[in-house]
Amino acid sequence: MDSIKVFSPGSVTNLSCGYDILGFCLDKVGDTITVTKTSEKGIKISSIDKYNLPTNINQNVAGIAAQAMIKDIKLDYGFDIKIKKGIKPGSGIGSSAASSAGVVFAINKLIDYPFSDLELIRFAMEGEKFVSGSYHADNVSPILLGGFTLVRSVKDLDIIKLPNPKGLIATIIRPEIEIKTSDSRKVVKSKVTIDKMVQQSANLAAFISSLYTEDYDLMSNSIVDEIIEPDRAILIPEFYNIKDISIKSGAIACGISGSGPAIFALSKNNKIANDILNKMSSHFNSVNISYNGFVSIINSEGVKVID
Ligand code: ADP
Repeated sequence: MDSIKVFSPGSVTNLSCGYDILGFCLDKVGDTITVTKTSEKGIKISSIDKYNLPTNINQNVAGIAAQAMIKDIKLDYGFDIKIKKGIKPGSGIGSSAASSAGVVFAINKLIDYPFSDLELIRFAMEGEKFVSGSYHADNVSPILLGGFTLVRSVKDLDIIKLPNPKGLIATIIRPEIEIKTSDSRKVVKSKVTIDKMVQQSANLAAFISSLYTEDYDLMSNSIVDEIIEPDRAILIPEFYNIKDISIKSGAIACGISGSGPAIFALSKNNKIANDILNKMSSHFNSVNISYNGFVSIINSEGVKVID
């Protein structure tokens, strides 16, 4: 095989109670990445279609992740990478992660699978570190493993794939502003009180349990964030109104996706998810804020080959 085309989806992280550790994989919205073997050694990004992103392999996360991957293996050829961006950077649904994870997945297939999914996560995290300043695997894990994932330790690379309850559907809406992960990390306080820590641990544990038991009342009660959401919400126009609208329309839960400005809601079925999208959209229209919204299944497969 000399060339491969993959679709690398967006992802929603934090899920209110799991800051930096929980995430799920979206469907249909993502990057399309073509990687072709070249006689010239090394990595080249020959095209990236949108958002003025760098083609320099030391500045584009795809180049950074790919270099981390091939640096210790002997190859007598190189790779050309072409990226069609389906996610705007800084939108809160893992634009950089889609490129980092997609490219390492594609190269692994081209070189006959020497690396495990966990090793691919480690390479993809190099791209994430470049843009956010620290290693985090909450976006790249659900892209590479599919469904819901929990990152217990980035250092030990202990990543757990969680159940994906049938019927669960996400609504995503993103007001058209850009928030850089690095900026939204700055508004998060570095200290937390014991009572908040206890509450957050209880919520996280209850949420994980609800994925196993498909107990949507428990899920609703546990997707709560009293630590980070209050600080980050001020960066997102109309956040609390949108949250209110989605809960009143039957959402199980609603919160900030990643570092925002995207907002996610989870629903029991497609009808409720679409109704929520319509109501969120009407609200943004009524206050003259441009937005982009869609409904997505929780994608169990993750990144996949399309050609
Ligand atoms: P997101 O959560 O959408 O990835 P971040 O703020 O974490 O948002 O990352 C976006 C930053 O990463 C931007 O500064 C962008 O220039 C940089 N970047 C480098 N390569 C890519 C890429 N292939 N796709 C998206 N963003 C990239």
